[in-house]
Amino acid sequence: AKEFGIGEALSALGIKEINNGTSTGSENFASGDLIESFSPVDGAMISKVKSTTQADFDKVIAKASEAFKSWRKKPAPQRGEIVRQFGDKLRELKEPLGKLVSYEMGKSYQEGLGEVQEMIDICDFAVGLSRQLHGLTMHSERPGHRMYEQYHSLGVVGIISAFNFPVAVWAWNTALAWVCGDVCIWKPSEKTPLCGIACQNIAASVFKANDLPEGISCLINGDYKVGEMMTHDKRVPLVSATGSIRMGKIVAQAVAARLGKSLLELGGNNAIIVTPDADIKMTIIGAVFGAVGTAGQRCTSTRRLIIHESIYDQVKDALVSAYDQLSIGNPLDESNHVGPLIDKDAVNLYSKALKKVVQEGGKLIVDGGVLEGKGYESGCYVKPAIAEANNDYEIVQHETFAPVLYLLKYSGDVENAIEIQNCVVQGLSSAIMTNNLREAEKFLSVAGSDCGIANVNIGTSGAEIGGAFGGEKETGGGRESGSDAWKVYMRRQTNTINYTTELPLAQGIKFDI
Ligand code: NAD
Repeated sequence: AKEFGIGEALSALGIKEINNGTSTGSENFASGDLIESFSPVDGAMISKVKSTTQADFDKVIAKASEAFKSWRKKPAPQRGEIVRQFGDKLRELKEPLGKLVSYEMGKSYQEGLGEVQEMIDICDFAVGLSRQLHGLTMHSERPGHRMYEQYHSLGVVGIISAFNFPVAVWAWNTALAWVCGDVCIWKPSEKTPLCGIACQNIAASVFKANDLPEGISCLINGDYKVGEMMTHDKRVPLVSATGSIRMGKIVAQAVAARLGKSLLELGGNNAIIVTPDADIKMTIIGAVFGAVGTAGQRCTSTRRLIIHESIYDQVKDALVSAYDQLSIGNPLDESNHVGPLIDKDAVNLYSKALKKVVQEGGKLIVDGGVLEGKGYESGCYVKPAIAEANNDYEIVQHETFAPVLYLLKYSGDVENAIEIQNCVVQGLSSAIMTNNLREAEKFLSVAGSDCGIANVNIGTSGAEIGGAFGGEKETGGGRESGSDAWKVYMRRQTNTINYTTELPLAQGIKFDI
């Protein structure tokens, strides 16, 4: 850790040995148990965070609700100016924050920096958006009437995030929610609490410098029980939750029981279709990066390759030799391609998946295995694996959050490949590799991919902030980030104004008194 300047990064971000995990901005407090954050890179305990109790949470929600009353009245472009300053602060602290993301979560330093860049990009997007929160004007059927719709701030937005994008997902939500006039309470993953503390410190410094009240940016910490404080609380009109399908089903029901809104970004089971007209070189680059990048811990990681039988062996051989060249090790060292999994539980799930696919009749063509010895002391490093399998195997239907890639064969037309691709419960990201226009268009048509993201000649993993991000079916249906995703953070109102001295009723109804 020392060699990579982790100590300096922690102090630049205001991380102490013990941190208060509850915050309303500059005021930090907490009375719950300590969470210890371990780095999967070297197994070291980085530092501790005091978790949030119900009493702490009640203080937070009271501050947030109060802050909302004034924040919503600040003109949206002025809120955008605050978000612009926040983006500038992130530019200043990009390196230490990127390093912390890499060290606490285990992704490569380049990806850590990339995550911070995404935060900066969404801030820029939100600044522009702050002048464009517009509704439509429509023609009234009644003479002398004007009708239009407008968007108003919603209130307290609860954000629950996963360990694998420990900072960007929060920014995707918060930058938009803030320009929309909402205040936010964030519960980061209990596996990456320090990323949460660091981000909150950065946000707090901007709010303080602008003399803004406590409560616009709030942080709570702990496991699912702390998440439940928000999902069950009526004072939180929108809960945005990113994580597993299992979690999403519980959160959705809890929020729906009080008729709140939820925005769900859940698991994927992403496939690339490789047709006879595919560029094989591009396919291999896209598939390998998609399957082993971030050690297979992206919601958009490539889990399945659906390959036409005529090129199956060629693709398989090329993949095996590409996997041969992968170097696995410390993600802060730029010469490594694959870093660790988040913890030993994730390693167990990976090992179980490899066993299961063989039990179900699959064949491992790149064996995988858990790494031991020098550099692998944390016990979290595994070898990326490839298995030949069938789509209907239980394990293939399931998202294993690790670098395990399943090869599936199809014959005949691209329709057959699309059917295999869609035959899973998840619907996040999908791709086709082809130079055949008809195949590409079929894949993008209404009878094509059923996912929220469908790409042609790029892999499944990664996305730009300009588009709306999210997936269908059990991925949860939510959309975040670009396009018109902002609308979920606001309430919509239709207004009709009569500027005559008559009171005509709609649909020509007569009501004489
Ligand atoms: P997880 O579901 O274990 O935890 C996610 C978050 O939910 C954590 O903060 C956790 O404390 C909280 N949580 C869990 N149960 C809860 C409950 N009952 N009530 C309230 N909060 C609860 O997921 P993880 O292991 O951190 O992340 C990996 C998963 O996230 C994968 O399935 C991945 O595909 C998914 N993911 C999806 C997206 C997306 O945008 N679709 C992005 C990133 C990750």
